[in-house]
Amino acid sequence: MSFPHASDRHRRPPKTVLVLIDGVRYDALWKVNQWVGLPNFWRMIRDGVLWQNVYTLSPYLTNHITQKILTGHQNHVQNYTIFHRLEFLGFKTASVGTNPWDGRGARFNIDNLYDPNKNYRSDDVRIAAACRILPKVDFCYVYTVETDEYAHVCRDAKRHIYSWQSPYIWAIKRSDERIGRLRSWLEKISHGNYNLIAIADHGMTDNGRHSIATWNTEIVTHVPVFACGVNFKRNWKVDQRYYVTDLAHSIVNLYEPRAPAHMFDHAIVRPN
Ligand SMILES: [Zn+2]
Repeated sequence: MSFPHASDRHRRPPKTVLVLIDGVRYDALWKVNQWVGLPNFWRMIRDGVLWQNVYTLSPYLTNHITQKILTGHQNHVQNYTIFHRLEFLGFKTASVGTNPWDGRGARFNIDNLYDPNKNYRSDDVRIAAACRILPKVDFCYVYTVETDEYAHVCRDAKRHIYSWQSPYIWAIKRSDERIGRLRSWLEKISHGNYNLIAIADHGMTDNGRHSIATWNTEIVTHVPVFACGVNFKRNWKVDQRYYVTDLAHSIVNLYEPRAPAHMFDHAIVRPN
């Protein structure tokens, strides 16, 4: 018996998109949904899988964690990225919106969207670039950052991230809308043969911080991970504890059954 893998020669490989939503706290899925609605996140969770106990690893800094997510290893510098691994297996990959190092190994490394000065809303540009490249690739990683940036606006303004006038809430709301647009586009170009996965790299303290390593509390370490698509069970919750370093191997497993499935172990379905 084998899993329905993209490596099946009789089947076109699904298009898999991994969206990293920087700094979205796990409880935001409920809290922000209650206030302003996150219909696209919740549609994904209803149609797919929510991992309820995924944790990130210190130091809780994005450039460290994204490397761990993309390589699946703590010692990320020495290891191949998910792009290297999928390309080696014969699949086409793209990395959108992050720094060039994060996207190393990707056939299309659209790295020039990283905006260090935070003065414009670059996530819309990132999603647009991902949508443009998607018809050409099997796997695409998209990095989005607004959520993190606006949590830090709360930090600087000494405002609780879940308070009145918090821009963090609206950044998460816009992220939900982008996920909805991305999913519609994926549906259209793949005729339903896709997987969409969302993960955060770290959470956030009430006052919009995450970078101090001693603050290794639940709110910073516990991250949302949810996915839907052709390879995932519907309305399925996973309780087992995993780490963000498990995800890369799990995604490779969709394309290569010899890779360990880790967090996808009981979350995958066999298509007809
Ligand atoms: Zn940050």
